[in-house]
Amino acid sequence: MNAPIRVTNNLEAFWMPFTANRQFKSNPRMFVAAKDMHYTTADGRQVLDGTAGLWCCNAGHGRPKITEAIQKQAAELDYAPAFQMGHPAAFELASRLVQLTPQGIDHVFFANSGSEAVDSALKIALAYHRARGEGQRFRLIGRERGYHGVGFGGISVGGIVSNRKMFGTLLTGVDHIRHTHDLTRNAFSRGLPEHGAEYAEDLERVIALHDPSTIAAVIIEPIAGSTGVLLPPKGYLERIRAICDKHGILLIFDEVITGFGRLGAPFAADYFGVTPDMMTVAKGITSGVIPMGAVFAKKEIYDAFMTGPEHLIELFHGYTYSANPVACAAALGTLDTYAEEGLLTRAADLASYWEDAVHSLKGLPHVIDIRNLGLIGAIELEPIAGQPTKRAFSAFLKAYEKGLLIRTTGDIIALSPPLIISKAQIDELVTTLGDVLKTLD
Ligand code: PLP
Repeated sequence: MNAPIRVTNNLEAFWMPFTANRQFKSNPRMFVAAKDMHYTTADGRQVLDGTAGLWCCNAGHGRPKITEAIQKQAAELDYAPAFQMGHPAAFELASRLVQLTPQGIDHVFFANSGSEAVDSALKIALAYHRARGEGQRFRLIGRERGYHGVGFGGISVGGIVSNRKMFGTLLTGVDHIRHTHDLTRNAFSRGLPEHGAEYAEDLERVIALHDPSTIAAVIIEPIAGSTGVLLPPKGYLERIRAICDKHGILLIFDEVITGFGRLGAPFAADYFGVTPDMMTVAKGITSGVIPMGAVFAKKEIYDAFMTGPEHLIELFHGYTYSANPVACAAALGTLDTYAEEGLLTRAADLASYWEDAVHSLKGLPHVIDIRNLGLIGAIELEPIAGQPTKRAFSAFLKAYEKGLLIRTTGDIIALSPPLIISKAQIDELVTTLGDVLKTLD
């Protein structure tokens, strides 16, 4: 496909997010088109998408159902006020979503990104306890190396130091449990790590320190993605759930990357058989095409707010673009695409092929760990002494030159291809990455 190429030379004005701006602008990497598993670069090369964009384009690129739904909705009803008014697509979408969520999670609050979904969920947790007369539960607990977006709530409960250190005091009343990454015992695990369920007991320590009666919610990613694919040890999530139940603490799963089929089930909650009280989602909800995020909540949480005079607003929270009609249409088109092509369970069929493929890179220079689950993979590299992140970033640049998009965080390469990937494309991805790893300094 030869799309007309239009690239501006004025690179200065755009302050790029989470990007080495000066490095990029000295040698830009521009995508101008995308279809199915590939991006097209400004110089006309095809790049295999090994990351579903940013963990979001689960249905692949340029999918007709999604494009058509957006076009139709924009022409029919472009915008409806989000407060005190409604439109049919929002209600249809919420009803469709709760058919996919685990039993008991049956309400949807819409936001426009993962960060907004997280901040919404944290606020709902605090307000929920207050509505029930337990307003002394004001503390929020996150985890070291957790990523929950970039709002003040999200960076406060998040545990990535570079995302926190520049931004002042953050929320008070937040604490963190330890992360579960343990290469001394779990390096090169296939699937879930055997060792480390006991790290969940760190939650008991933090709860005891503050007293359980002061804690509103615990938020964790079932799989920590942005921090470099940290998988939960076998039994860990079950133990976290049990501890939260014991102390009346809400459990929030941040499923922004694990939601919508990444593990071969609609959500990680299904995959692990552990049901949280709320889930945050974004990304795959529209296959990345239009910004949208959401909080999924249990009925008890919604019901706790539905008291008082009926003409009064129950939750003083929401966004101008909550359930934006075009975003809802994109999500409906995405759900149709997932259903027609079986994409929410396809990763289960590919998981063992994928596992063998990524683990075939074991033994290549600097590789100190390989991990996988569903259609997620990670290759951890030994950092260059005194220059952390440089080796992985160089792998990213070389892969791009060779026609493969990977993502790096620290010295970890993360892989999360669209769920439409073929076995031949998995082979291509791993062969290209292997060639890159062989050339790294
Ligand atoms: N939560 C998790 C687990 C994420 O992985 C991300 C993004 O990668 C976010 C929240 C933030 O999402 P967004 O970038 O849409 O704000």
